[in-house]
Amino acid sequence: MQEDIKKIESQALGEINNAKDYRRLDELRIKYLGRKSQINQLFSKIPQLTQEERAGLGRRLNSLKEAVSKAIEDKMKDFTAKDKAIDVTLPADEIYFGRKHILSAVSERICNIFEKIGFVVVEGTETEDEWHNFSALNIPLEHPSREAFDTFYLDISARNSKSGKYLLRSHTSPSQIRVMEKTKPPFAVISPGRVYRPDKVDASHSFMFHQVEGFCVDEGIKFSHLKGVLLHFAKNFFGNDVSLRFRPHFFPFTEPSAEVDISCMICKGAGCSVCSRKGWLEILGCGMIHPNVLKACRINPSKYSGFAFGMGVERITMLKYGINDIRLFYENDIRFLTQFYE
Ligand SMILES: [Zn+2]
Repeated sequence: MQEDIKKIESQALGEINNAKDYRRLDELRIKYLGRKSQINQLFSKIPQLTQEERAGLGRRLNSLKEAVSKAIEDKMKDFTAKDKAIDVTLPADEIYFGRKHILSAVSERICNIFEKIGFVVVEGTETEDEWHNFSALNIPLEHPSREAFDTFYLDISARNSKSGKYLLRSHTSPSQIRVMEKTKPPFAVISPGRVYRPDKVDASHSFMFHQVEGFCVDEGIKFSHLKGVLLHFAKNFFGNDVSLRFRPHFFPFTEPSAEVDISCMICKGAGCSVCSRKGWLEILGCGMIHPNVLKACRINPSKYSGFAFGMGVERITMLKYGINDIRLFYENDIRFLTQFYE
């Protein structure tokens, strides 16, 4: 039996000494000190021995148990000390910082391009009233976009009867009215923000999206100023070799109005699937501010004139980066978002 004890002792101490981690140490603790361990089995043999043998074996087994416990404890301390020591030669863990969402980054980039040529950023409010979202913008009561299917109405009437009901703004153009009501020309403003429309969500529609509105009012502002400003923007945003095309259009708040296309960046105008073989991609709507809109804001249209334009941030971002589904912007999948970190 003495032989057995010696064998167990040298084996246990050797294995404990060679243990590489906490898990292995725990396995050894169970193996040598657990209920079913060899040491415990030897203890169970004590009652079969003579009185003299009992005392000797008991002492021997107890000191074996103590030795094993102490070896495990020492090894544990060893591990803990190693954990605490900093090994400066190890490579550092990579740290991921949050970044701007691609839509925020693009929106800021658009605003910066205009700020550099004297535009001032003004943010409007997402909750608006009928006056600022429609009436003041020359959208009469019977205009189809007034109807509930095009706008989220809130079940609250504005205090002022002229203002009608509250709603979630369906475009950023109310910012125009807010500024013109309070400011005397000349001014040049760029206004980014969220807008809402009860559209069915699909690859190109969302009930919430982002626009940037720009406008400028002064004496003698002409359509050529608008063209110059938009060409400056397109070259800065899409690249120097881009061309612009103005197509006549109708908007209630501008006269004359135009939709603006850029030459397709993919095929350079030759025609491809992105531009539906047309060679052009629509990027924004614009025009000269309608005299009725100026009048609604008590600006004299025979003295002042101005231009305005509005663009969808999602659309422009999709064109610039070749993104084919608007829903990707709102899913916040980090694998999508990190592709646009700069
Ligand atoms: Zn193309």
